Amino acid sequence: MHRILRFPNFKCKALTISYDDGAIFDKRLVEIMNKHNIKGSFNIPTGFLSLSERYLNLSDLVDLYKGHEIALHGHMHLSLGKISNIEIVKDVLENRRILEKEFNQIITGFAYANGSYTQNAKEILKSIDIRYARTVNRDPAFNLPTDFLEWNVTCAHRDANLFELLDKFLDLKPNSPEKWKLNRNSKLFYLYGHSYEFEDNNNWEIIEKFCAKASNNEDVWYATSSEICSYINAYNSLVYSLDNSLVYNPTATTIYAEFYRKNYVIKPNETVKIEVLPY
Ligand SMILES: [Zn+2]
Repeated sequence: MHRILRFPNFKCKALTISYDDGAIFDKRLVEIMNKHNIKGSFNIPTGFLSLSERYLNLSDLVDLYKGHEIALHGHMHLSLGKISNIEIVKDVLENRRILEKEFNQIITGFAYANGSYTQNAKEILKSIDIRYARTVNRDPAFNLPTDFLEWNVTCAHRDANLFELLDKFLDLKPNSPEKWKLNRNSKLFYLYGHSYEFEDNNNWEIIEKFCAKASNNEDVWYATSSEICSYINAYNSLVYSLDNSLVYNPTATTIYAEFYRKNYVIKPNETVKIEVLPY
């Protein structure tokens, strides 16, 4: 069956950024992102907070990150690929306990500290209800994640090909009718980094230029990692009849999808008829 996920309002691309470590320079980064309506996730090692004048205080976080996602990065920023099972559980859950209490919300997004993980670490995260975990592996093809506990990025802002990749992404037209035989899957641009790199290397113009170029594109859904994860999981929960002529949406999310090259909206708890075509 010919099925393609589209993002809300049939947008065929999504863009998100994910910044780690909770440095005070996140204040300037958030200002730049907000100016351009770019949404992101901030992964905070709670053990680093107030550690020196380079890190934020716990009480700064709720106001600063309003409109963005707060996510986990391990209380003491430990490399999950190098520590025991019990140390993994302790580092992640202490981080989660502190942030959930401060934000009064459920926090299940995670970024691997130092990009370090193993299959075992992934299984432990799954067992403690972590919904996604971001790596630092690069996927320059803008593919949607197939394993949320190993969610690869497109690039880091320090990568030499950053703007080459962004231009390529912005030029893609996966929903173009004349290109229907090509790879028309929806695409994701996923940027990661640390705000202290801009300060230490005196190159804030990189993120200014990135946000200005990436923003206000009508083909692009600007969302946090958590929002993208929830949406893709909802799409993957659709239930089809045996002959593919009916689709049921058991979730609370309105889903936008393409079946046999036609657009469909499937509202929560709704069954929709699909026109089945022979290709
Ligand atoms: Zn980190």
